[in-house]
Amino acid sequence: RILSGQDLWAQGYSEPGSGSDLASLSMRAVRDGDHYVLNGSKIWSTLGHHATRMFALVRTDDTGRKQQGITFLLIDRTAPGITLKPIISICGTHEFNQVFFDDVRVPVADRVGEEGQGWTIAKYLLEFERGGSFAGGLLRALYARLHRMADAPGPDGTRALDDPLFVARFAEIGTDIDANDMLELTALSAVQSGGNPGSVPSSVMKIERSRIRQAITELGAQILGPEALRWYPERPLHDLPPQDAVAEDRLVAPAVYLNARSQSIFGGSNEIQLEIIARELLG
Ligand SMILES: Cc1cc2nc3c(=O)[nH]c(=O)nc-3n(C[C@H](O)[C@H](O)[C@H](O)COP(=O)(O)OP(=O)(O)OC[C@H]3O[C@@H](n4cnc5c(N)ncnc54)[C@H](O)[C@@H]3O)c2cc1C
Repeated sequence: RILSGQDLWAQGYSEPGSGSDLASLSMRAVRDGDHYVLNGSKIWSTLGHHATRMFALVRTDDTGRKQQGITFLLIDRTAPGITLKPIISICGTHEFNQVFFDDVRVPVADRVGEEGQGWTIAKYLLEFERGGSFAGGLLRALYARLHRMADAPGPDGTRALDDPLFVARFAEIGTDIDANDMLELTALSAVQSGGNPGSVPSSVMKIERSRIRQAITELGAQILGPEALRWYPERPLHDLPPQDAVAEDRLVAPAVYLNARSQSIFGGSNEIQLEIIARELLG
């Protein structure tokens, strides 16, 4: 159903007050016969308003270590008792939501693993979220767009590519994209042969991708100069008007720049990735 597009899944991990410190999550799931009854709320649920399903971490026990009382459930997003409040992002788009659960009934059969195993399951899944895909193609497309903008004369007739400082930074990012490709290919070979990416490589890739994407979009906004400060209420992020390519690139550059700020936050902030790397490598 995922492949056919019938189902879109939202991720229900974060809660107000439980982001980096995810294990403190408090959304309750209380057993009632062959169902759990859910009360609480999840936040930053990306595309939750389009989702038909949600995988979520819920609290089934609050005695003992906080990680041990967490359970992993698969939820029908359209079930009675679920309501959504849209959250508009800094670039003006409706991408995420706060999702409220009021006495929502979820069959025990829709639990993954045993009660209390949710933390281990989520950590395994996060490895794939951070390191189980190939971002190289997207980064190269953004880099090509940046080159197109830098090669075209701006309103004052000058080209960014004639500025040696710009060219040095541009080249540095190109080298980072090549290095990131190598990291991603190594991780993907591990996945191809049935393994998992590994938590340290996943965290390194998560940091690198966000750094590169933010660097590309920063240079894009820099090319625009003060024009990047102009705010168009309906400035498109994805739906481009039928104009020539460079004009389109310039039109979306500020929104794309703002959108890329989130790269170092979602999937676990970059500071938390550094902590994971330090803990695993330095003991
Ligand atoms: C675009 C976007 C989409 C998202 N989509 C989803 C989604 O679909 N589902 C979902 O469940 N969540 C989603 N999230 C939430 C995301 O996982 C959290 O935002 C993230 O884990 C950080 O949590 P927080 O926002 O509560 O920040 P906080 O945890 O409050 O962190 C604030 C700052 O403090 C720093 N910090 C916190 N703790 C430490 C520490 N121990 N050491 C050093 N620095 C620290 C952080 O790095 C950060 O800079 C999304 C977030 C964004 C931005």
